[in-house]
Amino acid sequence: MIKRTHTCGQPRATDAGSTVALNGWVNTYRDQGRGLLFIDLRDRDGLCQVVFDLEGGNPEVVQRARALRREDVIGVRGTLRKRAGDPNPKLATGEVELVAEELEIFNKAENPPILPDEHEAEKIAEEVRLKYRYIDLRRPRMQHILRTRSKVTKLARDYFAQNGFAEIETPLLIKSTPEGARDFIVPARLHQGMWYALPQSPQLFKQILMVAGFDRYIQICKCLRDEDPRADRQAEFSQIDLEMSFVDREDVMAMMGGFARAVWQDVLGYDIGTIQRMTWQEAMDRFGIDRPDLRNPLEIRDVSDIVKASEFQVFQQALAKTRAGRQGCVKAIRVPGGAEKLTRKMTDGYTEFVKQFKTGGVAVAKFTANGFDTGIAKHLEPFKDALVARLGLQAGDSVLIVADFWDTATKALGELRLKVGRDLGLVDEKEWRFLWVVDFPMFDWDDEGKRWVAMHHPFTSPNPDQFDFLESNPGGCLSAGYDLVVNGSEIAGGSIRIHRMDVQEKVFKLIGLTQEDAEIKFGFLLSALRHGAPPHGGIAFGLDRLVMHLVGTENIRDVIAFPKTQSGGDLMIDAPGPIDEQQIADCGMKVTMIERK
Ligand code: ASP
Repeated sequence: MIKRTHTCGQPRATDAGSTVALNGWVNTYRDQGRGLLFIDLRDRDGLCQVVFDLEGGNPEVVQRARALRREDVIGVRGTLRKRAGDPNPKLATGEVELVAEELEIFNKAENPPILPDEHEAEKIAEEVRLKYRYIDLRRPRMQHILRTRSKVTKLARDYFAQNGFAEIETPLLIKSTPEGARDFIVPARLHQGMWYALPQSPQLFKQILMVAGFDRYIQICKCLRDEDPRADRQAEFSQIDLEMSFVDREDVMAMMGGFARAVWQDVLGYDIGTIQRMTWQEAMDRFGIDRPDLRNPLEIRDVSDIVKASEFQVFQQALAKTRAGRQGCVKAIRVPGGAEKLTRKMTDGYTEFVKQFKTGGVAVAKFTANGFDTGIAKHLEPFKDALVARLGLQAGDSVLIVADFWDTATKALGELRLKVGRDLGLVDEKEWRFLWVVDFPMFDWDDEGKRWVAMHHPFTSPNPDQFDFLESNPGGCLSAGYDLVVNGSEIAGGSIRIHRMDVQEKVFKLIGLTQEDAEIKFGFLLSALRHGAPPHGGIAFGLDRLVMHLVGTENIRDVIAFPKTQSGGDLMIDAPGPIDEQQIADCGMKVTMIERK
């Protein structure tokens, strides 16, 4: 076998004159006729030009080379020389070429259904690329992405090992726990009629590892959630998951913040600086979302107190509403220069846009040197001075206003803010804006279920000064949860946990779990909490999303070697698929399909 002396990306002008052997895939070939042919040979590292030349060369080798086609796998050995033709500045090896003296064809490839070519890839339907994933992954871009991912996991292992974390694996076959998403389930052959569930996260195991005295745990793990299809989700995704003992939230945030800093520094050479911090309430009030994109300069302001004397029906009606203990409100966004930049067509579109968030529409007015103009100008004019002061209005601006329930108006303007930011190109795509969001409410009120639901998960502790509110005011009780947000995307989330059984029981009760249910579902946790649980907390970094940011893709499938389609299919192995009758019978089962309407 011709064994390589270099990878295809390695040869340089300084190697000219030496004997070099390369292994790889035929990326392109050009037969110039008269016994002269060029091949670009590719491996994980790059491309190198190989020349087969009858003149001074071996006729038998040239003959065989003429039959080479794209994606054949070969070995070549010969003398490296400075290119006879012009150098190719686009290639690291662009100054040299290998004059082949020996050729070994490891494997002829069938005519490839797709080519691992960046330009081609854009034109090929993603389904086809997923079916022939082994060819698609040969693309330099895909190689770069998966290598970046590997760099991140190595960094994680190094960083956390240096900080005293132990890497510990938690089981994949566990039991179904409620709360959160739907579980993937596996029949238990040895316990007929019983089921395992696949973990949605190692949450309880990592907490129990703290009870077990490991102090600092890390795992790069798979999490499985049987959720309905969504463009940016995979049923099976990866987390960098950690947990620490004898800590408060500052310790966990410092540890994870340090990791984020190391990743951005090492992978992108970017210094993220000190990570800003904001309460959930402030994030919602100013940006209408719990993961604000701080690159976008637009902000939401509440003007309810200013316009409450207005006779305008829309304002009146909104301010009279209440939901979940919150009064309806009137909120506004100032769009600098909007009078000119926002066309009538755009603002009409915005009314349609916000309707998907269940509000009636968005009211618009321009602000000129003479006061408000167009749209709902006449309803704003009486409050001009106060509005100018609150919103910082200047001549030439526009205001966008939504009047509704607090949560509806917040959501609608939060989304509209992002849309206007995109439409007007207000976001600098090269910037990175990191943010910790803290002081989340412990609970959300579920109107349908008529009960509280944990905003993070039910193992999250209240903030140290909030314990009393668990009983007196659950809706106002703030949690010790924290999310790390970058450019409007939540990349990590965690919390200080409840480490006392009495508190855990209270929270279970609040979310409507009877003592009996809690014992059946979480008895092992409650028991662990009774046997010496240290104060502890942790966080999980979404690995897939992290890599998406680092390599600049919005497609989660790009950062996973063998991803699933939106509907959960693996097109390469054709999963999910049927199983043998026998396999089903072994589990003591019979499948009867229920007809779906
Ligand atoms: N287990 C949580 C999650 O998967 C993360 C954490 O609280 O550490 O979102």
